Amino acid sequence: MESRYKRIVFLTGAGISSESGVRTFRDSQGLWEEHKVEEVASPQGFKRDPVLVWKFYSMRRIQANEVHPNKAHIALADALHNLEQSGCRTLLITQNVDTLHERAFGALPSKNFIDIHGTLSRSKCTKCQKVFSDRWCYFDGKSQPVQNHADNLWSHPGLQCLLSMPRRNAQGIPLSPCCSDLLRPDIVWFGEKPHGVEHAIEQLTTCDLFVSIGTSGNVYPAAGFATVARKAGAHTASINLEPTENSSAFHERIQGVASEKVPEFLKKIWQ
Ligand SMILES: [Zn+2]
Repeated sequence: MESRYKRIVFLTGAGISSESGVRTFRDSQGLWEEHKVEEVASPQGFKRDPVLVWKFYSMRRIQANEVHPNKAHIALADALHNLEQSGCRTLLITQNVDTLHERAFGALPSKNFIDIHGTLSRSKCTKCQKVFSDRWCYFDGKSQPVQNHADNLWSHPGLQCLLSMPRRNAQGIPLSPCCSDLLRPDIVWFGEKPHGVEHAIEQLTTCDLFVSIGTSGNVYPAAGFATVARKAGAHTASINLEPTENSSAFHERIQGVASEKVPEFLKKIWQ
């Protein structure tokens, strides 16, 4: 079997993970102990109170470890593998930090995958920006330091992995093995530049199919990706529970739950 397309870019957002039970910042319940998002998701917030930020992300890592990839993640992982095998070039761009694509794949060539908002499975040194695969949780919800190793989180190939709990300062903040400076979650916070946008745009301008899954179309830069691909001549399709805000950018608009609509759509890619 051959794919009807030669270069495909997929974009995923929160909607692909909602059936797995992942909570997001945008849910009314998603705020953690009533903290403003800026307090726990900005460089200024980390500078002001790194303990609070690490408590927040430790809880998110624990939560991520309690949920599992659903049928949509698994169908997409299988399709990407088969498409690559058949000679089709693919790129998966996700806005999610929940690690569920990583886990559906087991191992994913990093050139074919961009987590534009970062991931819960990595940390980085605040001094030299070196990135580590880091599956540790450093605090529990009651401010107690914990040593919880999230075993089934995927380790990013090519990255140094923190196999043992890194040294921590007197406050309990983990310190980087490279510079002994503070480690922070490798999450793109407010005011920071998303990962890999140049590479994404390059692929979007040369793809012949662009598929957006579970995104509401109101978070930039990803909200503009469909328009970029469409202008470059690609067929554009959206799969989402609700109508998307940028729906005019899509030739094909499919409404429904990801676990049903994504496997259905992926079958149609083959001739
Ligand atoms: Zn460093």
